[in-house]
Amino acid sequence: MDALTRDQLAIEPARVLTAPDLLVGSSLPGWHAAGGGIGLRRALEDRAGIIGVLERAGLRGLGGAGFPTHRKWEAVAAQPGPEKVVVCNGNEDEPGTFKDRFLLGRTPHQVIEGALIAALAVGARQVVMYVNPHLGSVLPTVAEAVAAWRADPVLLELAAALGGPVTLEARASSGRYIGGEETAVVAWLEGSFPFPRRKPPFPAESGVHGKPTLINNAETLAHVPHILRHGAAWFRSRGRGGAPGTKLFSLSGDVQRPGLYELPMGTPLAELIEEHGGGMLMGRAFKAVFTGGPSNTLLTADHLDVPLDFDSVRARGSRLGTGAMIVVSEGTSIPRRVTEFVEFFAESSCGQCPPCKTGTYQLATLLHRIDSGHGTRADLDSIRQLCGLLPGSGRCGLIDGAVTVVASSLERFGAEYESMLRG
Ligand code: SF4
Repeated sequence: MDALTRDQLAIEPARVLTAPDLLVGSSLPGWHAAGGGIGLRRALEDRAGIIGVLERAGLRGLGGAGFPTHRKWEAVAAQPGPEKVVVCNGNEDEPGTFKDRFLLGRTPHQVIEGALIAALAVGARQVVMYVNPHLGSVLPTVAEAVAAWRADPVLLELAAALGGPVTLEARASSGRYIGGEETAVVAWLEGSFPFPRRKPPFPAESGVHGKPTLINNAETLAHVPHILRHGAAWFRSRGRGGAPGTKLFSLSGDVQRPGLYELPMGTPLAELIEEHGGGMLMGRAFKAVFTGGPSNTLLTADHLDVPLDFDSVRARGSRLGTGAMIVVSEGTSIPRRVTEFVEFFAESSCGQCPPCKTGTYQLATLLHRIDSGHGTRADLDSIRQLCGLLPGSGRCGLIDGAVTVVASSLERFGAEYESMLRG
């Protein structure tokens, strides 16, 4: 499966998931005409080899964590019994991230095929496309695409390989930010409010109704049919500087051409902004970027050379996250942006951990006071104190994300906060 083949040459070097011929909406014949189905066929021919191909390809979870995909699949495959579940996580609801809605709305079949290959690899007969219902026509498009797969004879082949009927369905997620957290996905699919749960047990061991459950982000699954079709070596060759594959970057903020860009993993931040984003808005100077969404450490002009891959961004003290890049120029207030993000986290907190519910609310209130020109030094001291007290006090990562963005903005742009204090 790993050898380079002739049909690899037909694909534009950078664009794998967003190549124009793949943007067929819910049309399954359109997907097949673009080469769809070959990956699943290869997987059916060599089921035992699927996870090994992903390992050699170096595919990592693209929903934010960057965890090696093959290890997650191995964990579910190792569980006994046929009652397992695969969930495609399309709950995307984070400020600045708009990649999964594109994939699921414009080219859903590659994601569904990836989920079916995952089911074959781990031995699951239940596949759920879990989609945020607030993303316009995305959920109806996925539902149409799912209906087309249900009528496709390949599902019978899959059932034969798995020893029983396969269920494939599109389900509306809660549409809440926390509804994308893995244990919240499980809770919602069981019919409960999407409260994140304590781990362990991890969903791989005990997920939906106690069944081992594999939960992968839509972008991660979208890569799978292409890797099975073209091989691990091909996938690795799509990246730069040793980072494998491509990545969807949601570029927004103070740039000339905000938008969704599929680029080689490892593309430098400066190249994303200057070449693809058209440079800074109205010729302003670059000030900072919120990487991977609003919950990570800010990068500054000193970091413009960073290759955008999981390890390189981590080495600079931040995280690639979902690949969202929210760019800030000189003249745009960092405290203002941070206040907006923390207000989002305060509204999104599910409230089951008191330090998170009250802590995010307190942070948002103090930040708002400073941003509106009414803050005092005591308010700034209180923010610093909360940043020391709150990390690790929640059941999920929401509170830590809120603190990270506040603390890193204070560390790198503390003078801007100081200048806004009353008097
Ligand atoms: Fe809910 Fe916050 Fe606790 Fe997460 S940390 S479970 S969002 S209260």
